[in-house]
Order: sequence, then C-alpha cells, then structure tokens
Amino acid sequence: MRSPLSPDVTNPPGVVIAEYVWIDGREGLRSKPKTVEKKWKSLDDLKKSPMKYLPKWNYDGSSTDQAPGTDSEVMIYPQAVFKDPFRGGDNILVMCDMYTPGGTPIPTNTRFQCAQVMDKAKHLAPWFGIEQEYFIIRPKDRKPIGFPEDGSEPAPQFAYYCGVGGSNAFGRTICDEHYIACLYAGIQVSGTNGEVAPGQWEFQVGPCVGIDSGDQLWMARYILERVAEAYGYDIDLSPKPVVGDWNGSGAHTNFSTKPMRDSGGIEEIYKAIERLSMKHREHIAVYGKGNDKRLTGKHETASIEAFTWGKANRGASVRVGNQTVADGCGYFEDRRPAGNMDPYLVTMMLTSTCCDIKIEKMPTM
Ligand code: ADP
Ligand code: MN
Ligand code: MN
Ligand code: MN
Repeated sequence: MRSPLSPDVTNPPGVVIAEYVWIDGREGLRSKPKTVEKKWKSLDDLKKSPMKYLPKWNYDGSSTDQAPGTDSEVMIYPQAVFKDPFRGGDNILVMCDMYTPGGTPIPTNTRFQCAQVMDKAKHLAPWFGIEQEYFIIRPKDRKPIGFPEDGSEPAPQFAYYCGVGGSNAFGRTICDEHYIACLYAGIQVSGTNGEVAPGQWEFQVGPCVGIDSGDQLWMARYILERVAEAYGYDIDLSPKPVVGDWNGSGAHTNFSTKPMRDSGGIEEIYKAIERLSMKHREHIAVYGKGNDKRLTGKHETASIEAFTWGKANRGASVRVGNQTVADGCGYFEDRRPAGNMDPYLVTMMLTSTCCDIKIEKMPTM
C-alpha cells in the first residue's frame, strides 16, 4: 500500500516521535508512540542516558496479563534507544522495562535482574552473539511460507539452507529489509542466513557487551515483526512450529569474557564449560518454553536430558569452534537456547554460572 501523504510531511521542528516498546505477560512485544520534545544534543547523549531525556510512561497491564483490571497501571522506564527505521528522521524506538507505580519491577521484568548481574560482571566484559532463528508464517493457514497453500508437503530439507531460487528461498525480502533496518537502528546484526526448513531464516546480533545483548535482540525481534506485519505475515520464534522432519528454531548463544578472549583463554573456556555441566537443569529451565520438542538429539541438536560438549560438534549442548581451539582463546557456543528464549534470562544465567556471580532469586520463564 502506498502512503497517501506527501513526501515532505515530516516532524515539526524540535518534535520527535518515540515508539515505546515493552514485553507483555506472554513474551510478546507491544508498543505505542509518544510525542516528545527533543532536548538532547546528540543521539549519543540520549543513548547514554535515556531516563534523563525521556519520560517514564504507563500502559494498561490488564490487557497484557500483567496487572488486575482494578489496579491496571504498569509503568515503563526508557532503557535503550534506537533510531526508528520506519518513521526515519530523528524519530526513535525505545526499549523499556516494566514496574509497579511504586517502582518495584513487575515479575516479568527480567531485564532488572539481568542488569544487576551484568553490572557485577562489568570487569570481565561479557560478550554475547545470539543467532536468532525464526519462521515466517502465513496467517491464513498458520503454515510457514514455503509450505504449499494446498496443504501438500514441500520437498524434504536440503536446498533451503543458504538457498537461492524460487523453490528454495521464501521471504528473503523480509529477511533483507529487517537486516538493513536493524543496522540503521543501531543494532549490531553481524549477518543473516536462510535456514534448513522452508520459510525459516536466521539473523545474528553481536558481539554485544552485557545488557546491550538483551536490549538489542528484543528490539531486533520487534523490528522483524513490524517488517513482516507490513507484508501481512507473522513471525514464529517457537522451538518446534512444524511437526515432522523439519528443523526447529534455536537461539544459539555465543559467549566470552575478557579472560577467555585473552591469550591462553581456552583454559577459562574449559572451566566455564565444567561449571555449565553442573547447572544443566537450571539453564534448561529458562532456555525457552517447549524446548523439549526441539532438543531431541536430531536436527543438529543435543538431547535435553544431558549436558555434552565438543569441538566443532553441532550435536552437542556446547560447541567450541575450531578457530578458538586453534587460537587457544576466543568464545564458545551454547546451542541449547530455543528461538523463543528471553535473552535477558539466558545472558544472565550464562554470566552467573560461568563467572560465578550469585543470582538472588532464581528466575522462572
Ligand atoms: P554459527 O557458526 O554457529 O552459525 P554465527 O556466525 O551464526 O555462528 O554466529 C556467531 C555469533 O557469535 C555472531 O553474532 C558473532 O558476532 C558472535 N561472536 C563472535 N565472536 C564472539 C566472541 N568473542 N564472544 C561472543 N560472541 C562472539
Ligand atoms: Mn548461525
Ligand atoms: Mn542456524
Ligand atoms: Mn550456531
């Protein structure tokens, strides 16, 4: 649909539209825009202290499963700012977290605790690179695009992964537009690829430091849904959206600390893996709902039952890449998180376990 507005219709001077984005009670994203006065000197300034320039706001928590109707106000605090690739200009997207009117983080505010752990780990400079896999879904029949509309099965998995051509790549425009929109927004997307199942894609966000990882991944998911929405499609992040011999969606999380990246750091990596092996259950508990359907030991996954690791092994819970082994330092990949995991929880757990930082109250998802 072409816009009926004249192309010179833009913001009045000094006025910015800020789209406040937050997470609802069922791990979905919500947003609404607010007109704000542009009081910051530069975008960098604003990014460093969003709360200094942007007001707190609220929404109706009874419509998001986060508050009773009788006391429905949930507060949102602006935490991370991105350029708005949809409105352009000075307009912004704002990642928020959620509080009661009294200022207590609500139970689904996983960012709050994550930020505390990241603060304690600051001296170790934890880096994360998250590989977000997803399906583009046709609302009409809830099937991924790439699955024939007549209900017949597509060709078995082979040519779709990094595939080209009309019979192999479905929805590349959405993947590509999302990619450039994220880069414009200031999200560190390091790349994308067509995935193993038809209509399935991946993008990677990272390496990001500390809390930025969760903020950037959530905002990248928001932008993805907005791009898909414009074409009339949905995005499915769930670990096993199509039953049968079709890959599920993961969110492999690559992790390192400064000691791991420094020369000889592989010893630190092995220590971290040892710690992870003793906390398998605790990690799986927050690595995404329905992950048991995906972590079967098939389709490049490890069984959910036991922790395993290996060099260059895509059938293990944790993989250490050949380059890291050759260099004697670098990072490792936790392959267990599901596509629908909460990156605030996953990055917090990895940091807590590998860096031995206590979490006051164990989170649930
Ligand atoms: P795979 O080979 O498993 O498909 P990808 O290339 O899709 O891996 O993703 C790897 C991710 O790891 C990227 O987002 C990349 O930026 C990130 N990464 C690279 N180096 C590090 C590091 N030292 N620590 C954490 N993440 C890293
Ligand atoms: Mn990847
Ligand atoms: Mn992948
Ligand atoms: Mn991977």
